[in-house]
Amino acid sequence: MDQSEKQLDKKERAKERREKRRQEISLLRSIPYSGNQRWWSAETVAVVTGANRGIGFEITRQLAIQGITVILTSREVAVGEESAKVLQEGGLDVGFHQLDIIDDKSIESFCSWVKEKYGGIDILINNAGVSHNIGSENSVEAAETVIKINYYGTKKMIKAAIPLMRPSAQGARIVTVSSRLGRLNGKRNRISNDDLRQKLEDIDNLSEELIDSTTAKFLDQVKDGTWSTGGWSQTNTDYALSKLAINAFTRVMAKQLSSRPEGEKIFINCYCPGMVKTAMTGWAGQVTPEEGADTAIWLSLLPDQAISGKFFAERREIHF
Ligand code: NDP
Repeated sequence: MDQSEKQLDKKERAKERREKRRQEISLLRSIPYSGNQRWWSAETVAVVTGANRGIGFEITRQLAIQGITVILTSREVAVGEESAKVLQEGGLDVGFHQLDIIDDKSIESFCSWVKEKYGGIDILINNAGVSHNIGSENSVEAAETVIKINYYGTKKMIKAAIPLMRPSAQGARIVTVSSRLGRLNGKRNRISNDDLRQKLEDIDNLSEELIDSTTAKFLDQVKDGTWSTGGWSQTNTDYALSKLAINAFTRVMAKQLSSRPEGEKIFINCYCPGMVKTAMTGWAGQVTPEEGADTAIWLSLLPDQAISGKFFAERREIHF
């Protein structure tokens, strides 16, 4: 077998593995979340960001089907109301509020509204995100926006929501929709700067400051035109870094939150939905939004969670 045949063989096997896991997951998805493990009720409140379309809309729908009260949020009022209406007309308990995760005023007004109307949040799904490249494009023209929304916006939202998360025996949950593209040790798209990678991997010393300074360094290099030799990942560079950053922040937060007393626990995890047919990918990819939402629902509803600071895909833990 020559090199290219070996490569093809490897690709084929990876494809087979993916297909097998898809079949396993579709079987798992046919099993209802069982009655006696059901800790949630109509009083349980979930908030989904960027839920007017795509994966966020699907997460909203599936959580509402489980009997949870879900607040669909969207940065545009008209489209958000329209999306919520679709679910409400289907008989689901879905509320709506405007929320732009990079706008402090919007976050503030959302948080006061949710506190006033619902008394707090039990489940926060950070789904809102952007990518300005489709397929193999790798422009960094929108790098600032991508990092600002996917990393800083999500971080802002997490920090604002924590004081609102309701105490409960089973613990509140935060789930962030991330991407394998942001893996520190991914086979294909990892940062080639070993020193930086090691620092970002060292959970004992990992800090929000390190993550912020890493994204700032990248954006500086984008501005002065030196980013392509900066040792960053090679595909979807700005998006990959934004997801790497939010993954790392998930680990930092999990560590901080772990000291909360029993009854006030908050568990925080992230997951990759796979390559999903949505506007973001130009409707390419092998995964439907319904399948892409699955791990978010599973993580949100785990009966005995005590899992925090981890990264998942297809209901299984994967390496950061
Ligand atoms: P879509 O583009 O369909 O949806 C993205 C959503 O995020 C939209 O509702 C968009 O609102 C919203 N959004 C963007 N910026 C903000 C903001 N500042 N405040 C609030 N909402 C905002 O993409 P997907 O459904 O595919 O993506 C959902 C998440 O899944 C993203 O975080 C993405 O990175 C992640 N993901 C997607 C993958 C895929 O293959 N599709 C793979 C891996 C991860 P608006 O309609 O106003 O633009």
